[in-house]
Amino acid sequence: MEKIKVKTPIVEIDGDEMTRIMWHMVKNQLLLPYLDMNLEYYDLQLKKRDETDDKITLEAAEAIKKYGVGVKCATITPNKDRVKEYNLKKEWSSPNGTIRAILDGTVFRAPILVKNILPAVRSWKKPIHIGRHAYGDVYKNVEFRVSEAGKAELTFTNTAGKELFRGTIHDFKGPGIIQGIHNADKSIESFAKACFPYAFDQKLHLWFGAKDTISKTYDGEFRKIFEEEYQRNWVTKFKEARLDYFFTLIDDAVARIMKTEGGLLWACKNYDGDVMSDMLGSAYGSLAMMTSVLVSPEGYYEFEASHGTVQKHYYKYLKGEKTSSNSMALIFAWSGCLRKRGELDNTPQVVDFAKKLEQAALDTVESGVLTGDLMQVVTPDYKNKQVYTEEFIAEVAKRLKKRY
Ligand code: NAP
Ligand code: MG
Repeated sequence: MEKIKVKTPIVEIDGDEMTRIMWHMVKNQLLLPYLDMNLEYYDLQLKKRDETDDKITLEAAEAIKKYGVGVKCATITPNKDRVKEYNLKKEWSSPNGTIRAILDGTVFRAPILVKNILPAVRSWKKPIHIGRHAYGDVYKNVEFRVSEAGKAELTFTNTAGKELFRGTIHDFKGPGIIQGIHNADKSIESFAKACFPYAFDQKLHLWFGAKDTISKTYDGEFRKIFEEEYQRNWVTKFKEARLDYFFTLIDDAVARIMKTEGGLLWACKNYDGDVMSDMLGSAYGSLAMMTSVLVSPEGYYEFEASHGTVQKHYYKYLKGEKTSSNSMALIFAWSGCLRKRGELDNTPQVVDFAKKLEQAALDTVESGVLTGDLMQVVTPDYKNKQVYTEEFIAEVAKRLKKRY
């Protein structure tokens, strides 16, 4: 068979530990036999980031800006232990954070659904995606422990030095706590500008929940910016595609999520997205059954797995022990990247390959060939059998081959 040509180079960002091991198995067995592609390769394994004073991370992000689409393996975010373990110059910051800041993106996560793993919520038939605004609010707060009676005030002084606002937060009669949070119009606009096209592309309704009845100015601004973006750029497109944009109070959104059949993108403010994406991940079965993509308002895409480097499995692997790590999320990071690349390049064969790869992976799990994490949540069946990391990928390869 002649290999399928991928027109534009793909930015490949390699990573660490067990995911790095699986990354190369996936590439060699599932991709390279079928695809003729140019890979712009950036090795972000911790040692390389250290050697380049983390310049390699910046270069990888710039390459995504240049070519538009990238795919990333999980990487270690170093802490004190890792500095020792890898003898690092310093505690480099999270590559995901660095890349996110450069691309100004929103992270979208979605479950990978299979017939033999039922979501914990019975009504969920189609995937529920989450779009998390990854800037500001409580994650960039200023807080203070009040130790005695006194007055807490909120003030704003403009750059010319003129005070434009002063308001009492509370007249304390005794000890307590205060917190200051912020957000910026530009960041909320980027968030809205990422959510609408994502929902439209994937044919999902878009829900957005906030608490603007209580927080009329702060949450009210989020609501207003989303509504403006909808009215300005999406009303007609959404109507034609029979999609809804639905704003509701966050507590109402949470209640409705439990009754919906899915097929929607749930846009969440930063804290809501943090909490709710963990709830969704767990309700759908396993961390390795979630896809994750960073989308920038300019239309750059970075696909990744939503889990980490699976460190514990890697230490077993290093000792020569057998592991049963799940490569589904990595396979779907590649298929997502290839589908998007094919769409942008107008190469239907590449899009078709992405679909076949996903089907082969889904078939494998649905036929009862399972890694350890899924054995615990699968519907019991005599066909179910636990396999090792490399066996799972070989089983996917077998099923992919049948499709060509
Ligand atoms: P993790 O790698 O996601 O693993 C946590 C646990 O979840 C594993 O020990 C394993 O449970 C299970 N698990 C996760 N992915 C799995 C898979 N593909 N197959 C089977 N089981 C899987 O998180 P972590 O151990 O907290 O973090 C390890 C490293 O990853 C850290 O250095 C962190 O900085 C990094 N990290 C990177 C990213 C990223 O680059 N996107 C994200 C998060 C964390 P059992 O041990 O019970 O089998
Ligand atoms: Mg969290």
